[in-house]
Amino acid sequence: MRTLVTAARLLSPAGVLLDPLVAMDGERIVGIWSRAERPIGPAATVYDFPGATIAPAFFDLHLHGGAGRDVMEATPESLAAIGDLLARHGTARYLATTVSAPLDATLKAVSGLAKLIAKPETPANSKPCAQPIGIHLEGPFLSHAKRGVQPAEHLLPPDIAIFDRLYEAAEGHVRLMTIAPELPGAVDLIAHATRRGVRVSLGHSDASAEQTLAAIEAGAINTTHTFNGMRPFDHRDPGILGTVLTDDRIYAELICDGVHVSPAAVKLWWKVKGEERAILVTDAISATGMPDGEYTLGGFPVQVANGRAMARGVLAGSVLTLDRAVENFVAFTGASVGQAVRLASANPAKMLGSSTPELANGEPADLIAVDEQGKLLGSIVGGRISH
Ligand SMILES: [Zn+2]
Repeated sequence: MRTLVTAARLLSPAGVLLDPLVAMDGERIVGIWSRAERPIGPAATVYDFPGATIAPAFFDLHLHGGAGRDVMEATPESLAAIGDLLARHGTARYLATTVSAPLDATLKAVSGLAKLIAKPETPANSKPCAQPIGIHLEGPFLSHAKRGVQPAEHLLPPDIAIFDRLYEAAEGHVRLMTIAPELPGAVDLIAHATRRGVRVSLGHSDASAEQTLAAIEAGAINTTHTFNGMRPFDHRDPGILGTVLTDDRIYAELICDGVHVSPAAVKLWWKVKGEERAILVTDAISATGMPDGEYTLGGFPVQVANGRAMARGVLAGSVLTLDRAVENFVAFTGASVGQAVRLASANPAKMLGSSTPELANGEPADLIAVDEQGKLLGSIVGGRISH
């Protein structure tokens, strides 16, 4: 049964297509034309987004939870609740992101997640659901000086044997790991993880410029929530921040909720990292999509009020969704909608070395419709409308 989508324009690998008509059959795109060359024929359903731009759905590299659930629960029910929330906000894929926890708890969580990643449950009558395509280990090899809310007692010095245990427990589904490059043994572990096909992200770090450079030479390719959880910039001692912002080899995540990073700093990041290396993430926790109140992140209590998640006076992840991140980014920088959505779909995939989300024949029917301000007007995940 076919579903058709129309809008004012579509962003495809070939460029901008005006007056597009997208046909979807099940979970795949089966045709893209301009309406001039193909009138709307009989179809089961037509979704029309007048004036809107259609683009690939979002991909979130840094997501801990939502809808009251945490990915470390690693159950079909928790991932279904999170996936439903994400789909309603335009996200089709994400990396289930851990926080530092007792090693046994982390091993259990990644092993549970691995089963669900390998065999996503999608009964035909279920709601549209974003899928975890891998795991992001945010810890345990992080700096005590810049740990944020990561529990001090669960941080560990970099250790190849422990990394290998996590990798094996996750059945190879670890795709990204955040590490502080200044810790003893970090550079060897970065090289080792990179050889195993895991992308390495620098963060929760008090590293100097030299230590950061050594990590990039060893294979580090991404920066975890740039500006947050890292040594601040000093013009005589630029440190990790000065290095990741100016080294074109490395990508840089940013939490664009207006709380974690000020609009002026977002502009600076956008000017230096640009269309090829900037990535929007959420760092969303279980409280995302829920009313203000008390929640948990990896087992510790977090208070949420007025768009801020705090634990012991420190920001504890966010309650951001990628659609809002895109809208904020457009407002803060004046970037085009086409540029903005790229930072939340193509760039994270490119960094990971996974297939870039594209609107083309045979590709997954995961797409969003946004207005000129980047506001989400519609979200289709797995060929089914969610928003
Ligand atoms: Zn995080």
